[in-house]
Amino acid sequence: MKIHILGSCSGTEPMPGRHQTAWILETAGRLYQFDAGENCAWTAHTNNLNVAALRALFITHPHFDHVGGFPHLLWTRSKLHNYHKIPLAEEVLPVFTPEPEQWAHLAELMICLRKKKDPVFAATKVVDGEVFSDEALRVEALHNRHLRVPENGDWRSFSYRIFAEGKRIVYSGDLREAAELDEWFASGCDLVLMESGHHRPWEAAAHIREAAGTKVRKLVFIHHGRDYLERPEETAELTRKAWGEPVVFADDAMTMEI
Ligand SMILES: [Zn+2]
Ligand SMILES: [Zn+2]
Repeated sequence: MKIHILGSCSGTEPMPGRHQTAWILETAGRLYQFDAGENCAWTAHTNNLNVAALRALFITHPHFDHVGGFPHLLWTRSKLHNYHKIPLAEEVLPVFTPEPEQWAHLAELMICLRKKKDPVFAATKVVDGEVFSDEALRVEALHNRHLRVPENGDWRSFSYRIFAEGKRIVYSGDLREAAELDEWFASGCDLVLMESGHHRPWEAAAHIREAAGTKVRKLVFIHHGRDYLERPEETAELTRKAWGEPVVFADDAMTMEI
């Protein structure tokens, strides 16, 4: 099983060498994408990841540092399929998102561009609990307070827990505080993919250690904020000390084996 980082930056102004948040999980020869920040399709394609082979896309929340690359991802899939004759694993890409209505106009735009009425994606609303399962993986969602507590109970920001090949991955998305995932941390996982923006990464690392002990086996930071972008060595060292062993700060186009 592999994780391919497509974008490692948070929603900052454009950063040299980094794009905003997106990554692909490769398991059992299949590709599943999480978030779709700017340029995700470009980074995937230029690193030999076939976006026509995507089985599903999981969006944590509607902020543009997590979805800004979605229209271009759809366009790239159409280009690969129609022009280069690369088969689509899913003709209609399943997209799981807390806010499907965000994409209603994009669906119309794609019809207008392609002069075809058949849809190229189908958005399903994410709520707490299991959102997807197939032969290769299962994905659960848990709401968080990144976009505050909704008065109508309609949560707009989620974290994901992924089960594949007998392993568990927790993806924070954007959180209000690390403690929101304590139950998932404490029940153990092979890898936590945690945002380093919005929080001091060393404080988040110390918190996860306190909540989970050694039940979280590997800690990887993505969605980098100012601490890491402006002072990478100092931030990495503080975080390593807080965690007690090396921590990975992801870069664009990095691949990790789990
Ligand atoms: Zn974000
Ligand atoms: Zn956000």
